[in-house]
Amino acid sequence: MANVRGEPRRCLIIAAHPDDIESWAGGTAAALARDGWRVTYVLCTSGDRGTSDPDEEPATVAARREEEQRAACRATGVEEPALLRLPDGELEDDRVLRALLVREIRRWRPDLLLTHDPVTPWPPYTCHRDHRVAGRVALDAAYPYARDPLSFPEQLRQEGLRPHITPEVWLFCTSAPDHYVDISATLDVKIAARLEHRSQTVDPAALATAWRQRAAETGAPAGLAAAESFKRLSL
Ligand SMILES: [Zn+2]
Repeated sequence: MANVRGEPRRCLIIAAHPDDIESWAGGTAAALARDGWRVTYVLCTSGDRGTSDPDEEPATVAARREEEQRAACRATGVEEPALLRLPDGELEDDRVLRALLVREIRRWRPDLLLTHDPVTPWPPYTCHRDHRVAGRVALDAAYPYARDPLSFPEQLRQEGLRPHITPEVWLFCTSAPDHYVDISATLDVKIAARLEHRSQTVDPAALATAWRQRAAETGAPAGLAAAESFKRLSL
């Protein structure tokens, strides 16, 4: 599917941790890729706290989870993930993360951005802090910072990047969904990709059952057998 520039449409998905995208938007990513979109993931952290073993080194955990994320991307049919490698659990709404995400948006020039819902997240009171921060900063990066040439101008002068307007954003992990994507044809791919995160999976069969049930429950309000849901914004 081509955009106004005659190129394949691009979808950029920004998430806090490995496995966030498979959990919330993996079926949608697979469906877009099948439709000819170029789909790229940006992971703000490599999930280096994602272990129950207090003796493990964060770097070891991160390396394992990056490999799992690459395998999940291959299973989904999307590109190699971009890894920002900020510390898990420590994301801040600051200039450092803003600059990194503006750079990714200017690099990938998405027609569609997917990220966490920072304003009406799910679950509403106990949403992971990294999810709120990643979504908030990703939205701010898309508008206005990536658009404005005098924001982070060194990216233009020194790196050859150009300002970019992201026309549309879909927010996942939301309590206020208003857009449903039919993932009936890609639910198996979504689950297979999620199961590539072996270190985060205690019981693969139970997880698969739970995600099938969630897809059905998510789709029910829209009359779909299996869906992922989003809050849709036009910028
Ligand atoms: Zn997460």
